[in-house]
Amino acid sequence: MAVLVIADHDGSAVRDTTHKTVTAALALSSDVDVLVLGKGAQGVADAAAKISGVRKVLLAEGDAVAHGLAEAVEATVLPLAGNYDAILTPANTDGKNFAPRIAAKLDVAPISDIVEVVSGDTFVRPIYAGNALETIQSADAKKVITVRPTAFAAAAEGGSAPVESVAAGEAPKTAFVSEEMVKSDRPELGAAKIVVSGGRALGSAEEFHAVMDPLADKLGAAVGASRAAVDAGYAPNDYQVGQTGKVVAPALYIAIGISGAIQHLAGMKDSKVIVAINKDADAPIFQVADYGIVGDYKTVVPELMAALG
Ligand code: FAD
Repeated sequence: MAVLVIADHDGSAVRDTTHKTVTAALALSSDVDVLVLGKGAQGVADAAAKISGVRKVLLAEGDAVAHGLAEAVEATVLPLAGNYDAILTPANTDGKNFAPRIAAKLDVAPISDIVEVVSGDTFVRPIYAGNALETIQSADAKKVITVRPTAFAAAAEGGSAPVESVAAGEAPKTAFVSEEMVKSDRPELGAAKIVVSGGRALGSAEEFHAVMDPLADKLGAAVGASRAAVDAGYAPNDYQVGQTGKVVAPALYIAIGISGAIQHLAGMKDSKVIVAINKDADAPIFQVADYGIVGDYKTVVPELMAALG
């Protein structure tokens, strides 16, 4: 069995979601290749070659694959698909965009968001907003799988795989127009070791930033938010943690004024240590919290800031 991992990268570095997907791939086979698509992505390919356990890296360079258009990814992957029994990619925005397309073209069912590899054809994935785990067996000859990165440890560095060029596909019916990237000095929400998240209790955008930003800066944390806080305009959309936001599993997650609705828990309950600050002792967030502080964030957060020095 041979497996192809489609790498996740930012144009200059491989994201650790790729390392985690390689771990999932290695649970399927020891023949794991990584495909890097991009423009000027030689450095990314070289970095991918250093991931332990990778057999070889395929580099597809070109304008058409510079922006991760699903049609171009598909056109690059399909000619290679005959060499592989499984194609894996992280279950992030890009992977969720192109994996179903590749699966449809291969006439197989995509297997999404796996958290465990049981065997070559059997996988575990969360359903009902993470409230239940489903074990599924696929009879398809070729598997197209998205991997939930937070469920797998990152493959170590230390490999020295060869890098080979492959043809980049074209996307004749789709053109990249523009993108707006959010610039931040803080760690990326999905990869941060500490996340501080604010909820509806914060009451306004001004209050949200006045409370959350200094705490995040003190802890070197990323800032997240509940959907209620995002919908109310207190925090930008890309802060949202949960079923319809980002799935995070940092070492420390601090939830401030968040009730702990099931859809929010779906995005953070695998965090290693969860701290909740909520004035309602019956808030569901306390059921998943390792440390719970029942109190008004207006007094608790300043005390926390003072204690942090
Ligand atoms: P609330 O539920 O209103 O909770 C606010 C909390 O703050 C309360 O517990 C209250 O006791 C506490 N509080 C108030 N004042 C203070 C104070 N001064 N000090 C301390 N505590 C205080 N939600 C997400 O977060 N992410 C998602 O991805 C998501 N996806 C969804 C998808 C679907 C299909 C649906 C239907 C819903 C989704 N939701 C999601 C919404 C979710 O159901 C909740 O509505 C939302 O998470 C509530 O946000 P909240 O906890 O900030 O607000």
